[in-house]
Amino acid sequence: MKLIGPFSQILPLSDVPLRGAIQELQVIENGGVVIDKDRIITVGDFEQLRHGYADILHIDKPAVLLPGFIDCHTHICFDGSRSRDYAMRIAGHSYLDIARAGGGIWDSVTKTRSAGIDTLTANTVARADRHLQEGVTTIEVKSGYGLNFEDELKMLQAIRLAGLQTKATLIPTCLAAHMRPKDFEGPYLDWIINILLPEVHGLTKRVDIFIEETAFSASDALLFLQQAASLGFSITVHADQFTCGGAAVAIAAGAVSADHLEASDFATIAQLGAADIVSVVLPGASLGLGMHYAPARRLLDAGACLAIASDWNPGSAPMGDLLLQAAVMSAAEKLSAAEVFAGLTLRAAKALHLSDAGILSSGFIADMQAYPCSDYRDILYYQGKMKPVTVWKNGEII
Ligand SMILES: [Zn+2]
Repeated sequence: MKLIGPFSQILPLSDVPLRGAIQELQVIENGGVVIDKDRIITVGDFEQLRHGYADILHIDKPAVLLPGFIDCHTHICFDGSRSRDYAMRIAGHSYLDIARAGGGIWDSVTKTRSAGIDTLTANTVARADRHLQEGVTTIEVKSGYGLNFEDELKMLQAIRLAGLQTKATLIPTCLAAHMRPKDFEGPYLDWIINILLPEVHGLTKRVDIFIEETAFSASDALLFLQQAASLGFSITVHADQFTCGGAAVAIAAGAVSADHLEASDFATIAQLGAADIVSVVLPGASLGLGMHYAPARRLLDAGACLAIASDWNPGSAPMGDLLLQAAVMSAAEKLSAAEVFAGLTLRAAKALHLSDAGILSSGFIADMQAYPCSDYRDILYYQGKMKPVTVWKNGEII
């Protein structure tokens, strides 16, 4: 067992509610944390703990300790850049113009299909390692740039292999229902249910679908989600990004989360606030597309369990800086520091069904990060520019 400290402040987030608005944040001044291998034994006052433990890792500079962040929505397994799309978008060209010029999701599908599994694995490891250095210790990763049997399997295998090579925890999700592939004949969602999903059981326990006018309809998606759930998959939805309707389907199907929500209307926000579902907002996509943020403030006030994720992907969210995106959104949406940190930790853990991550408390995984400051408020004040100086994954310093 090892005592680590003293930290100027520890934010254990252990008494934070899973839902709704939060103003108060528990802060342990001059704190210490005791770990045993990959688990937290206790968190408390350093001076009190100091007498009970001989093995002490002394922290000799001001530092604030937080749980490692959990990014519950990413697409970091891909090959190729979409900088051409981005240049067109910031110059004012429409989504349709970009698609006509050969851009959009299909461009990433083409590039990812032609990449070998070693390239995809290496790309995923590099992005996961960068996230880990920035304090993100658990990362969900979606497929969805394969969109045929061979390449969806290749992506899920690359994510599995990447998970063996990076120290970050990767949680794979099958997003074969990202869009209808241009080269597929017949009922595509039926094909996913009947042919693809039975083959991916060993590689993922999660299934996602994009509900949107350009992707899949609400009624088709509801049946698909019910079928995927009956096959034993945990289900999640890309919902209400441009038009409202997907989040209601996510709730009706019993999805663990509804993600995006930029276009959710008042009735949907109320439903999300009342239902047992995580509302995942993705400020990186709003920044990349130059559109408004999801109504995070109204979701919290309605009682929602609000998580914040990066949506790191080659098209709409290429930055992949979770803390920066959350910090910038918090100024626009008027979120408290407690709401931001909860959305990056325990509330994101719920979206991934993780019962031992996102909190610094006895029995939880020792995934932690220390920032070079003595007041936690500095972290959001610097809008994501301040990065952790030390990250622990499973109790080991990265
Ligand atoms: Zn996404």
